[in-house]
Amino acid sequence: MPNLQNQNCPLCGQKAKFNLNNFEQDKYFDCSYCTQYVLSTMAEEKLNASSVSVREDLSKMAKDSPEGQFLLIRLEAGEIEAIYTTRI
Ligand SMILES: [Zn+2]
Repeated sequence: MPNLQNQNCPLCGQKAKFNLNNFEQDKYFDCSYCTQYVLSTMAEEKLNASSVSVREDLSKMAKDSPEGQFLLIRLEAGEIEAIYTTRI
């Protein structure tokens, strides 16, 4: 993947890498703990202001992604929404 950047995982705080996609609106994370998930930059801002339990729940959801799917975390109507998707 091109332009991989290092950032501590916004969900669990472990070392992670991300790649910006979708006109730099989405970060494709690869975390050693949460595995792979997608976080929109707007959702990330909201997440940073959220409680630890919210982030822990999302971390668990990402880690428990069904085979062949990954967690997509985005902002929907101002709230964080997390869904499993196969669409890249
Ligand atoms: Zn993580």
